[in-house]
Amino acid sequence: MSKDYEVIVIGGGPAGYVAAIRCAQLGMKTACIEKWIDPQDKPALGGTCLNVGCIPSKALLESSEIYHRAQHDFAAHGLKIDKVSMDIGQMQKRRREVVGALTGGIQGLFKANGIDWLQGTGCIEDTGKVSLKEHGKSRKKNLTCEKIIIASGSVPVNIEVAPFDGDRIVDSSGALEFDSVPERLGVIGAGYIGVELGSVWSRLGSEVVLLEALDSFMPIADEQIAREALKQFRKQGLDIRLQSRVVSAKVKGKKVEVKYNAENEEHTETFDRLIVAVGRRPYTESLFSGNARIELDEKGFVSVNEKFRTSLPDVYAVGDVVGNPMLAHKGMEEGIAVAEILAGQKPQVDHATIPSVVYTAPEIAWVGKTEQQLKKEGREYRSGSIPFAANGRAKALGQQDGLVKILADSKTDEILGAHMIGPYVSELVQEIVVAMSYRASSEDIARIIHGHPTLSETVHEAALAVDGRPIHFAPPRKRK
Ligand code: FAD
Ligand code: AMP
Repeated sequence: MSKDYEVIVIGGGPAGYVAAIRCAQLGMKTACIEKWIDPQDKPALGGTCLNVGCIPSKALLESSEIYHRAQHDFAAHGLKIDKVSMDIGQMQKRRREVVGALTGGIQGLFKANGIDWLQGTGCIEDTGKVSLKEHGKSRKKNLTCEKIIIASGSVPVNIEVAPFDGDRIVDSSGALEFDSVPERLGVIGAGYIGVELGSVWSRLGSEVVLLEALDSFMPIADEQIAREALKQFRKQGLDIRLQSRVVSAKVKGKKVEVKYNAENEEHTETFDRLIVAVGRRPYTESLFSGNARIELDEKGFVSVNEKFRTSLPDVYAVGDVVGNPMLAHKGMEEGIAVAEILAGQKPQVDHATIPSVVYTAPEIAWVGKTEQQLKKEGREYRSGSIPFAANGRAKALGQQDGLVKILADSKTDEILGAHMIGPYVSELVQEIVVAMSYRASSEDIARIIHGHPTLSETVHEAALAVDGRPIHFAPPRKRK
């Protein structure tokens, strides 16, 4: 082969490293360029998800949840602890260890699959031509390949009214690194990242205020679930202020003064730290040069067709950089699919069955259409809901807040969506993802045996409830 590689992947996050592994499995000589340098100054694979996203946030959510439960729930189990104290240094060390083990694991997978990890910044010069600027070197290396896969991901949006200063005003990455618990913490944006990070620090003792410009909470979730979530979070002490648009944030000594507009009035709040969590944008900086004119859409996402082809021949793109939903599992699935397309296969990524999860306590998870979407489409559907309070396992766990709701087509009974809030719904939603992938009906789920006592029985009962025949819950009687 006259070219250096058959495939060069730019970006080693979930979309890129998975694409690289699948390409190698399919026999292609593959390299992955990744430029990430971790806080210990070491190059790292894994991208946003492993280094500053999914994994470290879940590590801290777990630590803070245990701390919270030790203080508030253990007594009900008959466990007495005189005083629970917190060692934030150890908590952060554990987070770093979890991240290190997983990013090191990807490095091991690359070795096992014979993938070259090229450490530095990749730039597409033209079809089949990539330059690599290695860390600490000024000269670029020129590489040739048959195909290029862009998986350069996304970065946090920086808003002019609240510019990051890396100390008092931080993005989601900075919010994972606090070495002490802020007394008062402000969060701009009540999306899933804002709510998860707000929950972490609230459970550890911060007084948390979330400022959200929109008038509704989590508008992409099912309205009933979003209402329930808002109620639960407020009960937990998260001060969520809707219709509150931040207009300025200024660091004053060790504090941050935030001004926001609500109900036609300007308000001022002072915080010890401010997290800006107003969304993420595609990352394409210094990715293209020379002849490499790649079409981007109006929001800066790389435009691709259904086969992940960009406007430049033999250049493909996957993951956050091609658009919403910006989720790791969506990127991974696209990574597998693009590799298989390069190998001449015909894979399909079913974007209609991508699950969404918010890892708060209780967790929120859904897949498919919401009730408001179905109503807008004029689609006739039946709905079955079961509260976790009717589930034995949830009672035994002491986590009975929340519900599971299944929506199914009125005529065919095909499942159109499922919406959940409650314990471990991140796991429960997967049953519906499988069911929807096979275009199952709610009756299919209703007829499947679910282990007892498990939380999954709530899914079973919700399926029975679609047909008005749940066993362990008596729904309100229908009016004649
Ligand atoms: P990234 O993970 O962003 O990876 C892109 C990589 O490309 C980066 O490592 C970058 O250094 C590298 N790169 C870019 N340009 C170049 C270049 N020119 N040369 C070399 N390398 C380059 N998603 C979930 O599904 N579940 C969650 O629970 C979840 N939690 C999250 C929590 C937080 C706080 C955040 C911020 C995100 C979370 N996400 C979660 C989103 C998830 O992290 C992203 O959807 C996912 O990482 C996208 O994968 P990707 O491979 O497309 O991009
Ligand atoms: P997401 O895109 O899901 O991460 O959510 C980001 C949230 O931040 C959205 O709900 C936006 O409405 C919100 N947001 C953006 N700018 C501001 C602002 N200046 N003040 C308050 N909320 C904002």
